[in-house]
Amino acid sequence: MVEEYDLVLKNCRVKGKGERVTIAIKDRRIAQISESLVRGKEEIDVEGRLVLPAFMNMHTHLDSALTLGRPRYNESGTLWEGIRIWGELKRELTKEDILTRVEKVAKWCVATGTLWVRTNADCTLESLVTVKALLEAKNKLSELLDIQVTAFPQDGILTDPKHPELLEKALELGADNVGLIPHNEWTREEGVKSIEIAFELAKKYDRRIDGHIDETDDPSSRYLEVVASRAVKQGWIGKVAAGHVTASHSWDAAYRYRILDLLKRAGVTIVANPLVNVHLQGRFDQYPKRRGMAPLKQFAHNGVNVALGHDDIMDPWYPLGIGSMIQVLFMAVHLDQWTGINELSQSFELITYNASKCWGNEKEYGIEVGKRANLLVMNAKSELDVLREVGLPLYVVKDGTIVAKNLDRRFSEVLYNGRWEKLSFF
Ligand SMILES: [Zn+2]
Repeated sequence: MVEEYDLVLKNCRVKGKGERVTIAIKDRRIAQISESLVRGKEEIDVEGRLVLPAFMNMHTHLDSALTLGRPRYNESGTLWEGIRIWGELKRELTKEDILTRVEKVAKWCVATGTLWVRTNADCTLESLVTVKALLEAKNKLSELLDIQVTAFPQDGILTDPKHPELLEKALELGADNVGLIPHNEWTREEGVKSIEIAFELAKKYDRRIDGHIDETDDPSSRYLEVVASRAVKQGWIGKVAAGHVTASHSWDAAYRYRILDLLKRAGVTIVANPLVNVHLQGRFDQYPKRRGMAPLKQFAHNGVNVALGHDDIMDPWYPLGIGSMIQVLFMAVHLDQWTGINELSQSFELITYNASKCWGNEKEYGIEVGKRANLLVMNAKSELDVLREVGLPLYVVKDGTIVAKNLDRRFSEVLYNGRWEKLSFF
């Protein structure tokens, strides 16, 4: 029987399915994956290229993206100078400025194959302009990509009496996740107290937790254990992401081993940000300089969920980036030596299925019949090729519609408001 589908991708290479399968899409979902011939309103022969589920960026800062050099550059390259520069800039930001930058960078994300972005929104400004702008961007850009907004108390929850209220207000406005930054509180005790406040708010508003945790080279920074313990005691199993955890790179092996079981039990996802971690960490070292990224392989081998974020894109903390999760993965496999032939292929889980578990959309995610058709046709035959080339997907399919193309090296094309736009990364 000849059946008509909306979009048919022929001769796809799909892990676990075959090297020349047809993916037929109807009503936004994958309707069939088979070797049989089917007809579609639109048909593309991808000639044996690799098809992957669209990528997920589990940690970023869209409010600061593309502000590089405003009002000045970060010359020391430290996290702390970045926080000072952002502190100078953020008081002057307008909603329009943020929305203009977010729209531009969101198109970069889609063009490079990312359809889910979890962003932090600094909620220590009295105006909450960053939170309001990112919540507006989430709605405005929903045809392009799915955004989750984390209310992020950049300057600490307890460093100013207004900050706990502002964090709560951000949740009332609709922020998806509760953020925290215990290592940026003034004392260890206040760091612990800030974790308690974040979990209380998560319970009150029924939100997930997504924290900046132990983002330092200081091996005595050990808030991850407090976060995991609270997750177990509050029943927030699988609802907590710990971003960065760069101190875990410097913890001694005996301590790291001791908390592995707790992390697994709490279902905490460790979200490393390799581009930014290797750039910001190790700044106080002479040679040899530590790499500063959480030891993902050790966590993963012990049953802890691990995923990746791009973190900053051209802002006070990181001068580079185009939003590409392939660049992020490329850096991760080098830093943590996921370079065995099977490891290279498996590493894609960090920007796909593992991230999906943390986002909470695993029922809708992946290349299976019945799931939402969010796919990438890579210009490659294997995961190895994708990582070697660090290239862009030929086609990006969102909910059954082609929303981005990279068929010409001079520009990307993105479908926005029903129109194809050409864009560059400069
Ligand atoms: Zn961050």
